[in-house]
Amino acid sequence: MDSKKALKIIELLDNFIKNPETELEYSSNFELLVAVILSAQCTDKRVNQVTRVLFKKYNTPRQFASLSQAELEELIHPCGFYHNKAKNLIACAKMLCEKFNEQVPSDFNSLVSLPGVGRKTANVMLIVAFNTPAIPVDTHIFRVSNRLGLTNAKTEEECERQLTNLFKSKKDLWGKLHHLILLFGRYNCKAINPQCANCILKDYCKHYNKKG
Ligand code: SF4
Repeated sequence: MDSKKALKIIELLDNFIKNPETELEYSSNFELLVAVILSAQCTDKRVNQVTRVLFKKYNTPRQFASLSQAELEELIHPCGFYHNKAKNLIACAKMLCEKFNEQVPSDFNSLVSLPGVGRKTANVMLIVAFNTPAIPVDTHIFRVSNRLGLTNAKTEEECERQLTNLFKSKKDLWGKLHHLILLFGRYNCKAINPQCANCILKDYCKHYNKKG
């Protein structure tokens, strides 16, 4: 897709979506990191229900590092995959204490060195916590970008490469376009039964125009 058409899509989304921001609740970079790790395979709504209770009791790397696996599992149980998530969160908190002076690091390579932190989580931290250009790609962004024809990717990593290339002259837009496409995927261009008939992007959408 040419970048002029791609920018038109982002402009339409920007007019349509009111608050293109994360829906996770947090009050520090560490809380955000915990919430993003918990959000894998889980809705932000459920993560917020869990963290509202969790963060009242524990919300620093040192506190998380001192928790037992069983204690943390019980607190995060509703988020699913609680065994691995608890293991990673405790290991991640320990590494933050030992190597990063109890602070969440602000560069990509340090972020992905933390247990439980992959490309997507690191990129979310970059845009939300540190205002650094990145395009985190999750399942919604992967699906919507391919449907629209912004990308033609087989993996989330390839999708990220294609999006950063397509919008390479608009780095200041990266964080915002991540939230715009993600929220559009979450509420409109859903995995099952996307709302094509009333879609504001249908004139520009490869998937819709292929269907005829
Ligand atoms: S027309 Fe359908 S597939 Fe295309 S962006 Fe809109 S909802 Fe998604």
